Formats: sequence, C-alpha cells, structure tokens
Amino acid sequence: MADIQDYISGKIIHDANLALKSLKFLRIPYLGSHIRKKLSARANDFEAKIISQESASEVIINADRCAIGERMCRNSNKNEILTESVYLNKLADGLVSTSRARYVSKEEAIDLFGKYKKYPIILSKVSGNYIEMCNSYPKRCVYWNLEKHGIKCLTK
Ligand code: SF4
Repeated sequence: MADIQDYISGKIIHDANLALKSLKFLRIPYLGSHIRKKLSARANDFEAKIISQESASEVIINADRCAIGERMCRNSNKNEILTESVYLNKLADGLVSTSRARYVSKEEAIDLFGKYKKYPIILSKVSGNYIEMCNSYPKRCVYWNLEKHGIKCLTK
C-alpha cells in the first residue's frame, strides 16, 4: 500500500522517477513482463481515479485539513510545468512538516482546480484513504504514462 511515510521521506519522488525510467525496458522479453507486473501492482495500490472538479470540491469539503504543494513527480525536475496537488488530513500534516506543502483554507484548495483547469484531476489513495488530489501533468504523470503503455491504472 502507498503510505504517508513514503511522502514524508521523499521515497514517492524516487519511486515516480524510477517508474518512468522503467518504461523503456517494457519491450525487452521476460524482463519487460516482470517490470510490467511490478509497475501495475504498485500503481494499482493507489486506486487512482479521474474525477471532476465538482467531485474534488466535495472531497475537500468533507476533509478536516487541506494543504497545497507542487505535484510529487515535479520535485526531481523543477524545469517542468508547475501544477499543484491538494493533500488532505494526515498527508497534509506530513507534507507541511517537511515544507513540501502549506496549509490552506478549503476555499483556497477548491480554487486551485480553477487555476489548473486544463489538467485532469486524479484522486489517489494513500495509507488507505483518498487524501491526494493532483492536477496531473499527463506528459510526466506516472499514471498517464503507464496507461499509454497499456498498463491500466486509472478509473473514472
Ligand atoms: S498524479 Fe500524476 S502528475 Fe500527479 S503527482 Fe502523481 S504521478 Fe505526478
């Protein structure tokens, strides 16, 4: 299972990078199918869903605390387009404690989706709860890239 601790320690940033780099090996016989299985299992841990702006707002309204920070997969390449994520509850606490996010009001968190309108919102499960919502950047997003390579990991 994806864990809040992975976000606090930064392991998630390393994992995202590694997942993207691994994609170029998918066509290699045997090794490719092994990597495909691993990537699929890891990605499906997050039970990621594409959601509307309205659904995202509803999740925020029902949360206790919200924070905003840049999407995790941008941490290793600051030249990429900036999109940000909303982190909730304990994930918000963890990322604020490492300065990767800042607490915001629910109104500010909801307004963020208007700022990044053209980027699809992905809701992910971390430590068993849906507490990460990302304005995903498909060119770099692990989920979108896996889907592009035939690894199903996003639902609607
Ligand atoms: S949802 Fe996609 S774009 Fe957002 S942090 Fe995760 S991998 Fe990156």
